[in-house]
Amino acid sequence: MKKQYDVVVAGGGTAGVSAAIAAARGGAKTLVVEQYGHLGGTAVGGIPFLGALDGKGRVVNRGIFLEIIERLKKENACFGYAQGARWNTQEEYQFSLVPFDPEIYKFVAQEMVLEAGAEISFHSYVTGVSAVNGRIQAVEVANKSGKQNIEAKVFIDCTGDADLVGMAGGGFIENGARQNCSILFRVGNVDLDMLVEDLKQGRSISGWGEWHTRVIETEKCAGGKPGLVHLAGHMVFGPDEPEITFTAVSLREGEVFLNATRVPGLCAFDADDVTKAEIAERRNVMRVYGMMRERIPSFKNAVLLATSPIGFRESRNILGDYVLTKQDVLDGARFEDGVAQGAYPIDIHDPNGGRTKFMFIRDGGSYEIPYRCMLPKGLENVLVAGKTISATHEANGSTRIMACVISQGEAAGTAAAICAKSGADTRAVDAAALKRALGIR
Ligand SMILES: Cc1cc2nc3c(=O)[nH]c(=O)nc-3n(C[C@H](O)[C@H](O)[C@H](O)COP(=O)(O)OP(=O)(O)OC[C@H]3O[C@@H](n4cnc5c(N)ncnc54)[C@H](O)[C@@H]3O)c2cc1C
Repeated sequence: MKKQYDVVVAGGGTAGVSAAIAAARGGAKTLVVEQYGHLGGTAVGGIPFLGALDGKGRVVNRGIFLEIIERLKKENACFGYAQGARWNTQEEYQFSLVPFDPEIYKFVAQEMVLEAGAEISFHSYVTGVSAVNGRIQAVEVANKSGKQNIEAKVFIDCTGDADLVGMAGGGFIENGARQNCSILFRVGNVDLDMLVEDLKQGRSISGWGEWHTRVIETEKCAGGKPGLVHLAGHMVFGPDEPEITFTAVSLREGEVFLNATRVPGLCAFDADDVTKAEIAERRNVMRVYGMMRERIPSFKNAVLLATSPIGFRESRNILGDYVLTKQDVLDGARFEDGVAQGAYPIDIHDPNGGRTKFMFIRDGGSYEIPYRCMLPKGLENVLVAGKTISATHEANGSTRIMACVISQGEAAGTAAAICAKSGADTRAVDAAALKRALGIR
């Protein structure tokens, strides 16, 4: 039997979840196709939502993003914004995050998508498209049932690699060197009070007093006790060892999510490179985990609890009707068709493996993403949301951050539902009407 939908969302990750919820709530018969057996994508690797508050502590991302936080709180899997640290830049610039339990988010994301009325196809990989005159008619999906063609009026590419756009013949921006990739890992049995002391005393970790450190201790840790939520520094294991920049985020007593290892120079959409990245990073994680247990007192009795699949911070970026630039981000640009918001500084993990570089938004503000950044040139019924929207390498250093990505997904899903209802192509969507539907004034 032929499968037909109004909207197909390819990829049920960070952007795909909000895209599917928004499309289904907009009245579109929606299917989300996801290669893994859960939703969430990179968001369930063990990282906090960043960029939800601007540098002055003002709420930037609302809508489905806030609903997700509320649902996570109900499940006791999140305690909301963690504030209290600042970047020591030229002026006061607050740093905040929203830590959450990634395992519970897999459930919350699934239930929110289903409650909205969307369908999910798990363990299903989009392997091809049939496209004529810039319109995708169907995607080819491979799964345990074999191969199926799934038709839709509108397609949203949330694959994190712009797979759909690539297969449909869309163009990409020549962005040059890409950010590095990492496996994230979670460690238990850590003495968190001692970890702060280790940093202060320089016991195999350095950086106390540096702007990068951003230690947040809060009253409202999920364990119910005041404690450490965020700490960043550099692991220094010996004079001949390269320094390892890391962040540690804690949601409950004795546990930290670590973002510490990395491999530069590999390509997210090259199958051989993806395999090389998994192999190299698993080795890196095991080596660093071993060194941490050996050298950092707070990790003496640590146990490795979980690792994520490889995560590429940067893949390819589509060439859309507008290309968001570094200056747009840093100037806090506003657009008539601004449909999503970003507030995190430009955060570039050195493509060559050096220290991470940051660039800050003027006056600690936020910027908008035009709807046009989601429209791949030459394609009429395709929208893109997530880290592959039309943005330069530098701009993408901010737009890739999750609060912003979830807002992009909501905008794309809402637009797709409008198109499906009216029968119009993506470029015919009235930006003012879309903004009203998104509750943006
Ligand atoms: C290591 C690392 C650390 C990061 N740290 C932070 C952080 O601390 N805070 C923060 O806010 N942001 C962080 N980011 C950035 C942020 O997490 C990502 O930019 C964002 O999650 C990307 O969202 P996305 O929807 O574009 O892609 P993803 O969330 O990766 O979703 C893509 C989805 O598509 C699926 N998929 C892919 N191809 C196909 C296909 N052909 N068929 C079917 N399904 C497919 C994937 O399985 C996945 O579920 C980090 C990124 C990385 C890689």
